[in-house]
Amino acid sequence: MNKQSEKIKTDIRMLYNGSLKKPSNVAREYPALYSKARKIFGSWKTALEACGIDYEKARNRKKWSREKVRREIKKLHLKGQSLRLKELRKNGKVSLISAAAYHFGSWRKAVESSDIHYSFGTNLSGIEKKRVGKNNISAEIRMLNKQRFIYSKPINVYFEITIACDLTCKHCRAEAVPNRSLHEMNTGEIKEFLRDVKELGSHLIISGGDPLKREDLFEILSYAKDLKIPVGVTPTTSHLATYHKIKKMKELGIYALGISLDGATEKSQDSFRGVDGTFENSIRALSYAKELNIPVQVNTTCTKETITEIEGIYKLLAEKFSPPVKRWSIFHLVPTGRGINLQMPSSYQLKSLFQFLYEKSQKAPFRVTTTEAPHYRVYFVLKEKEMDKNKEEIFSKGRSLGFGVRDGNGIIFVSHKGDIYPSGFLSVFLGNVRQKKLSEVYKNNEILQAIRNPDLFKGKCGICPFRFICGGSRARAYATKGDFLETDPLCHFDEEFLKSNS
Ligand code: SF4
Repeated sequence: MNKQSEKIKTDIRMLYNGSLKKPSNVAREYPALYSKARKIFGSWKTALEACGIDYEKARNRKKWSREKVRREIKKLHLKGQSLRLKELRKNGKVSLISAAAYHFGSWRKAVESSDIHYSFGTNLSGIEKKRVGKNNISAEIRMLNKQRFIYSKPINVYFEITIACDLTCKHCRAEAVPNRSLHEMNTGEIKEFLRDVKELGSHLIISGGDPLKREDLFEILSYAKDLKIPVGVTPTTSHLATYHKIKKMKELGIYALGISLDGATEKSQDSFRGVDGTFENSIRALSYAKELNIPVQVNTTCTKETITEIEGIYKLLAEKFSPPVKRWSIFHLVPTGRGINLQMPSSYQLKSLFQFLYEKSQKAPFRVTTTEAPHYRVYFVLKEKEMDKNKEEIFSKGRSLGFGVRDGNGIIFVSHKGDIYPSGFLSVFLGNVRQKKLSEVYKNNEILQAIRNPDLFKGKCGICPFRFICGGSRARAYATKGDFLETDPLCHFDEEFLKSNS
């Protein structure tokens, strides 16, 4: 009896895997199965329920319109729930799966037709459920932790040269406006600040706002060139980023351009950046960089809204813009500035994204990194261990992701007014370059010293065995909890997992 009922259940599942079937149709088309099921289970309804199939919905498949299927998929995705078939079946979503197959031909097509890239809804590694070593945290990670990763000088000084910008991006940290501020540092003050950067031996990344809104940009670049400071520039991809200006930047010695791309299509990019034509301008800027042979870092902001764009952006960059793209960095939302109105991805989406990034990082024609998502490094190291990569390989690849706390450690940020902050996203005031030397603030400021000490961290980050290689985003802790030593709320590792490895 048991064997027979199991066989019937398997046959019913096979029958319903792919389309919804009304009971009357099954009775007509599969009379043998229909009558056997009724004999063994008492009724077709009970037989369907024994297979986890919603009888009522199966009977009324017309209630599931294409739109309703799409809406339901989006709803699940926004809630951060898994879109894997196995999980959905487990959660009783059989009728949705059947309706999706009926209307779209397959589950995958239904997901994609809901504007969700399939791998973001369905991929998931079980890595975070495992212990790292046999019993506890592995020897390699202990060794890494011992290094503490304190940077004695900033590798990069980020300089927001202006907050003037013609775009109105939804996530803008600087809350940029069209006109320049009266409080901006003038050319002379900037030159003095550059001499300090020279003394520090750091790279200078000029950002904004839009650096191209300053008429003295080329004079400043020329001065930096004379001082032999390596400079990168991240212009806004507006109509101001012309071929002539990008060429001039190259002649003035910049070593890289930063270009933003948050959407894989005109519709998504322009809506996120608030101005029509931005996608086209970004593509044009990438083409200029390719023609002029300027290395590019592409920056992509990751929010609940843009996460579905990431796979498309990767394809675009890998197929058309490699070169000039040398590095692709996924900036994870810190809810600050205009970004306070945006949502962070769910834990589930984040895990899927990390898996996607890890997989791409193995074969991408450029480096794949994250900004303000340091726990990706932990994911990366664990994944490499799972793949049985040797210690040296893990260390060297991991180091290139930049171990250790990032905000105020290895980087520092100077605003258009000369205010110093640990990073662009962490608005804890440390001093002003008009009054203090940046080098002195970087070395001696007590706030920075606290930020660089993971033993002071609180909550989950405080007990985390990976806090020295990761440290969480101090900026996000501050933006969400008002305390830069608190836990990074974006971290998807659960406390149990962290405890089991401490
Ligand atoms: S708990 Fe904090 S330190 Fe640990 S992995 Fe998560 S973000 Fe990083």
